[in-house]
Amino acid sequence: MNGKVQVVCGPMFSGKTKTLIVLISGYLKDRKKVVVFKPKLDDRYAEESIVSHDKDEAQAFAVTRPAEMLDLFHRADVIAIDEVQFFDESIVGVCETIADYGKIVVVAGLDLDYLGRPFGSMPQLMSVVDEIIKLNSVCTFCSGRARFSHRISKDAGVVVLGEKDKYVPLCRSCYNEMNSKQL
Ligand SMILES: [Zn+2]
Repeated sequence: MNGKVQVVCGPMFSGKTKTLIVLISGYLKDRKKVVVFKPKLDDRYAEESIVSHDKDEAQAFAVTRPAEMLDLFHRADVIAIDEVQFFDESIVGVCETIADYGKIVVVAGLDLDYLGRPFGSMPQLMSVVDEIIKLNSVCTFCSGRARFSHRISKDAGVVVLGEKDKYVPLCRSCYNEMNSKQL
């Protein structure tokens, strides 16, 4: 089998995890063995499953470092990774190594952080992958196409876990308006 890396990216509330689960379901239907990974810091809902905002689930292993996946991928045909933006830069090489073994790697992550900057290793990852599915959300203010995850809480730091209590999806013009108002 020829390996490949697919990435599903976009802002918060754009259906990334749901799309990942749809892809996983398709691979399972093709009788492929799927292993799902997610970063250990994301324990918003369940410990051993990935959960989308609509509460769809798939079994998952929570790992701290990308290298841990190299011990576990051999049993699977397809390796799915959710919230991939939270892993360190070694995730890029790990995804490529697994694909080089002829496996399908499908990952989902935020492409931009809350300040609209490319998130962690996502730019590197998106450069080396075979397929990119870029999703949009719906702008909270104008219902336009949203690509920014604007933080409405006062928390500092790039990694602040939260849902609609802390973030809203915004289109480019509403995002710019919000940020100029805050200056
Ligand atoms: Zn808008």
